[in-house]
Amino acid sequence: MSRHARPGLPALVIAMAFAAGTSSSALAQTSRAEDVLTKKARAIHEKVITLDTHIDFSPGDLAGERNYSQRLETQFNLPKMIDGGLDALFFSIYVGQTREAQNPDAFQAAGYERAYKAAIEKFDAVHRFTHEIAPDKIELALNAADVRRIKTQGKKIALMGVENGYPIGEEIARVKEFYDRGARYLSLTHNGHNQLADSHTGERDGWKWNGLSPLGKQAIAEMNRLGIMVDVSHASKESMMQTAGLSKAPIIASHSAARALCDISRNMDDEQLLALKKTGGVIQVVAYSSFIRTTRPDSPERAAALTALRKEFGLPEPTDPSQRARFQSALTQLSADKRAQYEKKLVDIDHEHPGDPPATIKDFVDHIDYAVKLIGIDHVGISSDFDGGGGVIGWNDASETFNVTLELVRRGYTETKIEKLWGANLLRVMDDVQRIAAELQK
Ligand SMILES: [Zn+2]
Repeated sequence: MSRHARPGLPALVIAMAFAAGTSSSALAQTSRAEDVLTKKARAIHEKVITLDTHIDFSPGDLAGERNYSQRLETQFNLPKMIDGGLDALFFSIYVGQTREAQNPDAFQAAGYERAYKAAIEKFDAVHRFTHEIAPDKIELALNAADVRRIKTQGKKIALMGVENGYPIGEEIARVKEFYDRGARYLSLTHNGHNQLADSHTGERDGWKWNGLSPLGKQAIAEMNRLGIMVDVSHASKESMMQTAGLSKAPIIASHSAARALCDISRNMDDEQLLALKKTGGVIQVVAYSSFIRTTRPDSPERAAALTALRKEFGLPEPTDPSQRARFQSALTQLSADKRAQYEKKLVDIDHEHPGDPPATIKDFVDHIDYAVKLIGIDHVGISSDFDGGGGVIGWNDASETFNVTLELVRRGYTETKIEKLWGANLLRVMDDVQRIAAELQK
């Protein structure tokens, strides 16, 4: 029965036991077993470094007047991070991909410059947050040793990864500039091809390079030389496989899931996972509902009702995953009154035209199990995509982070294994990447 109970809800376990007509002594046993499990998970959760490799933000939410040092309605912020016992995160220096169809100068100097400025604004926001807004609570880490040191000092740990190589333009020197600003991974692409590589979106739109461009290959060599992890989340399969063959250091997928369980182009198939393992790298399984469980599309009635609701409250349409952060941000800008009205109407729509239920934490951990079975415990990690996605019942904001550890303990993962999943693997890769860079620079 505990298999079907939601983590962290002993009251529900008890209610379900009663409903099933369980005797009171069996009930007491169930609840004692649940207590033991929770206590064990709690001890592990506090001891290991819990690291999430992908959290989105808008510069205003991070370093504006209302910012992440406060309990905002965002999925991630410092109070929620503390509540959930999440130790470390990579802030995503995300820049959306402009397509030539939208903007003819997307791949000319002016387009690159706009993307570059957007990236710099995000770098600056992270520096401002960690150095001026909350330096007593969170510190910027530049390597794995920093992460371990800051953990022992009882502070939270911030790292940075650049999501999309678009803002480097055609200047390889900018890879070093981003490294110097603190970036420790760089995703080759986002949604849509760029000057470095094909994106997974080519499965729908067709290909530009059939993998990596000549400039993309140069960028990978430069990342290897500097000690910045090459991230293949969002890249096409061909780009990813070429990267695995080319990179002199282990590569990562900062936020992807297993395609065998959820067949979408953003996820990685078995051949890709095995190639990633061969580099010594790690897949950070992402708790993004629509990457975890294939859901039926909304009925026309539901879709129309949701569109009308968003229109009524002046909210953007979150049609593309990259628009989710913009949507979340617009939502948090509604007044408390308006927000309550919106939520109420949303509940009415859910009641009248129910959608397919979102993925749960069990679906999420199924992806971890799958990847561990295929490529081994040393090559799997964890990421949330908070404020850019998320939506998994049970781990839908940073305050619920403990539920992940609890579910892993429930499935029999030992402390050593949980430590690897929650960050030790990623930190090993960071160490390897920086050691290889030092050798290459000799
Ligand atoms: Zn992403």
